[in-house]
Amino acid sequence: MATVEITCNECEYSYYLFISMFYTNTPNFLDYLRAHGVLPTGVLCEKCELPCTLRQETNMFYCGRYVAVQKQKRKQCNYSVSLFKGTFLENVRVPPWKIGLFVNHFLQTFWDHETVYRCIHFSSKTSVDWRTYCSEVTHNWMCNQEPIGGPKISVEIDATFFVKRNPRGRQLSDVWLFCGIERESKKKIIIPLHKEGQDPQSAETLLPLIKQYIRIGSIIISDDCTAYKTLSTEGYVHKVFSHNANFEDSGIHKQTIEKQLRKIKKWSKRVGMRSENFDQYFSQYLFIDTFTENPVHQFFLETGKLYRPHGSHPRPPVYDSDEVDSLAH
Ligand SMILES: [Zn+2]
Ligand SMILES: [Zn+2]
Repeated sequence: MATVEITCNECEYSYYLFISMFYTNTPNFLDYLRAHGVLPTGVLCEKCELPCTLRQETNMFYCGRYVAVQKQKRKQCNYSVSLFKGTFLENVRVPPWKIGLFVNHFLQTFWDHETVYRCIHFSSKTSVDWRTYCSEVTHNWMCNQEPIGGPKISVEIDATFFVKRNPRGRQLSDVWLFCGIERESKKKIIIPLHKEGQDPQSAETLLPLIKQYIRIGSIIISDDCTAYKTLSTEGYVHKVFSHNANFEDSGIHKQTIEKQLRKIKKWSKRVGMRSENFDQYFSQYLFIDTFTENPVHQFFLETGKLYRPHGSHPRPPVYDSDEVDSLAH
């Protein structure tokens, strides 16, 4: 059973400061990961149920207690488990500080593989793998974003055509974005729509998204698309803006969304929208755009939620002794 203690409230490292803190410094980086809930701060022996000791040289937790087996006979408990078991760094084959630097670079709008090859000497395969791995964290965040709105809060929504893309070996497909923005705070939610069966004009596609990402009681402002017809029976106050209305009535959403779309389009030209991992890469962009102040801090908090140190998960894995031996490297 692992213990996780998140002790970092809100760190803000600039790109260069992060590099200067962790370059070649694995112990510092592991402390940083512990403070963000990515690594456990302690582990209980699964046989003795008492705290294990962490050996820094091997990054393994060992029990090593002497337990009585018979009268006057004692045996040393051989329980051990890797510090990285179940975490983001499980099976990592490069020094952990390099993963820190990789993530720091991944969370920049100027992200590229080239710098990773040249500066931390990842092979192209390692770089691609870690990009996918990191994108899974941002994708998980994107799908589980906090809903916006609430009673008396005005939220403008729209489904907007975004781009055509060509998934490898398949026909061109349209990508639409479902967007919601709080009028006052400008808090927003953006979800890409391009999966088979998703129709950006239909209630079957849009209603579940609205229910998931916009709180009941919100005042929803939309165009007169029929998909939104039943909103007022779903616990929302629904207002339709007319395209002839003055700027004050319908302008906030259009302005904010259009600015957003221009930025995403510019970004998408660089990173290749043809990839099969469209959603993942899109979520990378959204994450960076959402957490401009402290993306690395937020990223590792999200990482700890997705890859939980072993035993801190609601359904802890069970180890038998053979498995424990195989964890020893
Ligand atoms: Zn932090
Ligand atoms: Zn033990």
